[in-house]
Amino acid sequence: EMASYAERTKASQAATERARKVMPAGVPSSFQAYDPWPVVVKHAAGFTMVDVDDNSYVDYDMGFGALFAGHMNPAVHKAVSEQLADGTLYVTPCELNAEVGEILADRYGFPMWRPTNSGTEATMDAIRLARGVTGREKLVKVEGGYHGHHDEVMISNKPGLDEAGPADAPHSVPQSGGITQGTIDDVIVIPYNDPEALDRALAAGDVACFIVEPVMENIGICLPDEGYLQAVRDICDKHGTLLIFDEVKTGITAGYGGATNQLGVRPDLITLAKSIGGGFPVGAFGGKAEYMNYITDGTVLHLGTYNGNPLVMAAVKATLTEACTKPIVEETVARNGRLVDACQAIIDRSGIPAHTVRFGAKGCITWSASPVRNYRDYKATDFDLAFAQWIHGINRGVLLPPGLDEQWLISVMHDDDAAMRYATVFDEFVQELVG
Ligand code: PMP
Repeated sequence: EMASYAERTKASQAATERARKVMPAGVPSSFQAYDPWPVVVKHAAGFTMVDVDDNSYVDYDMGFGALFAGHMNPAVHKAVSEQLADGTLYVTPCELNAEVGEILADRYGFPMWRPTNSGTEATMDAIRLARGVTGREKLVKVEGGYHGHHDEVMISNKPGLDEAGPADAPHSVPQSGGITQGTIDDVIVIPYNDPEALDRALAAGDVACFIVEPVMENIGICLPDEGYLQAVRDICDKHGTLLIFDEVKTGITAGYGGATNQLGVRPDLITLAKSIGGGFPVGAFGGKAEYMNYITDGTVLHLGTYNGNPLVMAAVKATLTEACTKPIVEETVARNGRLVDACQAIIDRSGIPAHTVRFGAKGCITWSASPVRNYRDYKATDFDLAFAQWIHGINRGVLLPPGLDEQWLISVMHDDDAAMRYATVFDEFVQELVG
């Protein structure tokens, strides 16, 4: 399969070799690099991507989930084109800012919002706000949790098991050079789905916030145990620690109103990004007024030249009010459900050691017989089989990044055939596997 990949992607190889001369690893973000070279794209529309070798793919990655609206969603395209005629940047407010704030307030149930330019900025700013509100310094995150690329959340995203420490009391492992010991010491790492570990971490004192994805979507899909999120809510309240739900990935793909509304537990602050922007670079954080007012009165600063960029705000508005309305989201979640059921039926027939996991419009094949409840379970799944499935799929037009971190997303522009193509190719893979 690897030889076939190399054969089919010769122009991607040439493009990557050129890019490597001017850019580390030949990519603009290190996540885009993989061996032997990534697919280099020239065109995308709807659910389809076409690479520089003219191979066509059904995109199931959809920009790490940022493209729930689909590539070039007509409503988003129209709104951005119209805004383009009125200018691209003002750095003084435009009416779209308040309109987007109102839409987010309505959809996610928090009154006050600020836009950012990425999910990284949203989590960075929410963490600073939590520190400003509580006057405390430390933060707690879960092992295997990804919240962007600022220093404080680049701790124990994907630690090797040799450095990760005991499962019930993981070490804080920096995932990059350039992170200070002071930052490492400020971050306490706990296992997901372990309320007692959270209680212990908060009891030690001085913890401003617990930042967590309500459903972990950077280790495939890892669901909260029954009652876990409510326990988290109660424990944070007991210790006066703010709870931040990072809904950068779950935000609109989870179903209407995000994981917060789908799962019924409210955090103090929420971070959004990715799919609210219909493919444009955006983030946002919002929360209870008593906390957001710290920004109003200037106790905590929140800044950014491009915040509320009118082109991006036009994209957000069109995404939330036209492209991804409640009935469209519900229809898409149902379509995804049919795909997950089809994949699970293939697994059940063949008896391979795998299972499907779903949340909203997303799904994944988890290569283990038992459920994944945290990062250590994830590390125990079969990465070799996952890689074999990936390369088999990409050679047959199923576009996803290699590895188990991401999950598929059915966008509002995937029709039934496009969604089910994944199951057809997966079935072929499974038949080859079981011989
Ligand atoms: N939080 C989560 C949960 C994410 O998955 C990501 C990106 N994968 C981020 C934050 C960072 O978002 P961005 O890449 O827009 O900075």
